[in-house]
Amino acid sequence: MIAQIDSLFDMMAAFPDEQSCLDHLQAIRWQDGEFCPHCGGMRVYHFSDRKTFKCGDCRQRFSIKVGTIFEDTKLPLRKWFMAIWMITNHPKGIASTTLAKDLKVTQKTAWFILHRLRHASTTKSFNAPLKGTVEADTTFVGGKEKNKHSNDGTGGTQGGAGKEVVLGILEREGELRASHVPDHKGGTLKGAVRENVAAGSTVMTDEDRSFKGLDKDIYHHAVNHSAGEYVHHYTIHTNGIESIWALLKRQIIGVHHWVSPKHLDRYVQEMTWRFNRRDMRVGARLNDMFSCVEGRLTYKELIA
Ligand SMILES: [Zn+2]
Repeated sequence: MIAQIDSLFDMMAAFPDEQSCLDHLQAIRWQDGEFCPHCGGMRVYHFSDRKTFKCGDCRQRFSIKVGTIFEDTKLPLRKWFMAIWMITNHPKGIASTTLAKDLKVTQKTAWFILHRLRHASTTKSFNAPLKGTVEADTTFVGGKEKNKHSNDGTGGTQGGAGKEVVLGILEREGELRASHVPDHKGGTLKGAVRENVAAGSTVMTDEDRSFKGLDKDIYHHAVNHSAGEYVHHYTIHTNGIESIWALLKRQIIGVHHWVSPKHLDRYVQEMTWRFNRRDMRVGARLNDMFSCVEGRLTYKELIA
């Protein structure tokens, strides 16, 4: 059903009321079998109201929202579904002020919805390492010089004093991994590259000294930007990851204007999530987000 959704209009027609949303959530959550969110038991009794279930093992009653990001919210699921539409389909994401107006909710509620969805987008763990030709690069976020590129030749933290570091690793024609990292030190960056890239792969970086010494088990090519060497061979460049930073800048600065370091990683994950699903059909992308809703995130945890 949902795979045929190609527009917001299609989605709202497919989910005309709360029950249709609950049914869909149930179909996705229990696609591999019914389970109790309290104890994991698999004997689940269905009540005739189509909203309530009871576990045959721990005897607790629950709704399909228990144990997901939708637990504890009074917000109708249709509003959540619309928010999911917007965060998964707007190329740059959406600001909480805009979402508040579109959903007729307070800005605080909209902010919380978006953070819960960002949280959901981080819960899918990646297993397969990136391989083949991979580009790695960092960018600085924050401070007055917004998103200054880390290509300052210092290889250290000088260029990024007071700024947050985001590391991106991109498989050509493949997946992006990006995250907010604690610092710009060689150990941090190289450790992350080795963790995410299969041995025998080729990694392209700029001349950033923090990446020096990568070539013990990975082939490492460094492009010297300061020598005007942007593309010195048709395959040796970091253009892919640099276009990602342009995207990140447009999303974080363009849409949200400013992002606190505490929440920066969630914004990076949101962008990464969308980027990695750029070629998916609309319905498939929506379902992929729905399948990520497992796990709660309370307001207290969020602002902690
Ligand atoms: Zn149970």
